[in-house]
This record gives sequence, structure tokens and C-alpha cells, in this order.
Amino acid sequence: MSTYDENNIFAKILRGEIPCKKVHEDEHTLAFEDIAPQAPVHTLVIPKGKYVSVDDFAARATDAEIGALIRAVGKVARLKGVADPGYRLLSNIGAEGGQVVPHLHFHILGGVKLGTMLVKV
Ligand code: AMP
Repeated sequence: MSTYDENNIFAKILRGEIPCKKVHEDEHTLAFEDIAPQAPVHTLVIPKGKYVSVDDFAARATDAEIGALIRAVGKVARLKGVADPGYRLLSNIGAEGGQVVPHLHFHILGGVKLGTMLVKV
């Protein structure tokens, strides 16, 4: 597992050094619009704690942090109007998973009927 990079772009958003279009915030989580949306709804949900990925989060986060993140996903999906008819929840992990920003984030993608989950590799 790689160590946490304090200068990653989401760490800067959490420190208020660069702006974001905030959708939701609570004690443990922040949600904001993706800067390069891949669907009509593309919102990111992140923990405030310093976790690289789901793998890191599962190993080190408290039960309160884990619960808060999943609850925030549900809340943001409802706020964005995609809980019904549905959406895709995605988290890229590490180099082979295609993760670019090394701070755990869930992508909420929806607002349109989404295609095949993966193009066969
Ligand atoms: P991933 O490939 O899973 O690491 O996804 C990183 C996501 O972060 C991409 O969808 C980017 O468009 C998004 N992103 C990068 N910089 C920003 C930013 N400053 N504000 C919002 N979203 C961003």
C-alpha cells in the first residue's frame, strides 16, 4: 500500500486550498462535483481522513468513518436524484484499477442509462 500524499488534489480541496462544487459535507465526509463529468450526474464522495484507497480505508478506518462514508453515498445519490432509477458506484484502486487521485473516492455516476460496466480487456 502506498503512503498518503499530502499534496494530492483532494487533500488540497479538503484543506480549502482549491475550490470545489460542494454537494454534501459532514463530520467525516465531503462530496463534490467531478471536474470532468463522465455522465449527467458525476459526483465524488470522499472521507475527510487520509486514506489512499478502499484497500487502505478497509484496513485503517474506524467503524464511524466507514459508516459515515457509506451513508454519505446514499444521501448524495438521493440528493442528486439518481437513487431511483439507479446509478453506478465506482472506486478505482491503485495502478491497475486506474486510480489517478490517491485519496479514496467513490464516483456516483448516473442521470442516464449507463452502458456495459467494462469494455472487455
Ligand atoms: P480516479 O481515476 O478514480 O482517481 O478519478 C479521479 C477523478 O477526479 C476524475 O474523475 C477527475 O475528473 C476528478 N478530479 C480531478 N481533479 C478534480 C478537481 N479539482 N475537482 C473535482 N474533480 C476532480
